[in-house]
Amino acid sequence: MDNRGVLCVVSGFSGAGKGTLMRRLLSEYDSYALSVSATTRQPREGEADGREYFFKTNEEFEQMIRDGELLEYAKYVDHYYGTPRSYVMKNLEAGKDVLLEIEIQGAMNIRKAFPEALLIFVTPPSAEELRNRLIGRGTEDIGTIEARLSRASEEAAGMDQYDYLVVNDQVERCAEEMHGIIQAAHARMNNHLAFVKNIQEQMMQYKKA
Ligand code: 5GP
Repeated sequence: MDNRGVLCVVSGFSGAGKGTLMRRLLSEYDSYALSVSATTRQPREGEADGREYFFKTNEEFEQMIRDGELLEYAKYVDHYYGTPRSYVMKNLEAGKDVLLEIEIQGAMNIRKAFPEALLIFVTPPSAEELRNRLIGRGTEDIGTIEARLSRASEEAAGMDQYDYLVVNDQVERCAEEMHGIIQAAHARMNNHLAFVKNIQEQMMQYKKA
């Protein structure tokens, strides 16, 4: 069997609980690798460089773009965010399922570059729940929350372009559902092309002359 991991893009409105979901998948299964993005936004309280993000200046980020170090990047509410290429490629080749927690423009760019990537959209059960979670989290001021909700309304328009929808009503259930979706992707025909070719060749011997 081919042993390449699944490239899995997870997007969702800010406050949808993607971070908690990712942590849950990583702690439950050792088949996942979570890509750590580079960003120019300021660290939030409790965030560490190299763990949640690689925190960069604008100049550093633009240098990474020029050097081709990013698999994709996008601007989100005034800041750059991008996925370092080498970690993703290395882990896919090692057979890990690589999780990219990125916004919608990045997701569409990944789909163009990797048509086999799996795109999952995570949403809270309702718009009101989203607003309450963002305010309850207390990590942003009201201006930023409003900017993020406005951005969420734009993202809502594009969510139907994803392959799968997961409603985050309860984190354990939701993580299990995501794991099931990703596991199923391993069985996709195009993940087994070498095996398929081999068995097709073997089957030729049974063909009647
Ligand atoms: P936050 O500032 O809340 O950590 O992230 C803001 C948004 O940027 C989220 O939607 C998150 O998924 C997205 N994001 C994080 N890293 C990347 C990345 O590497 N590329 C892209 N395109 N979006 C990212």
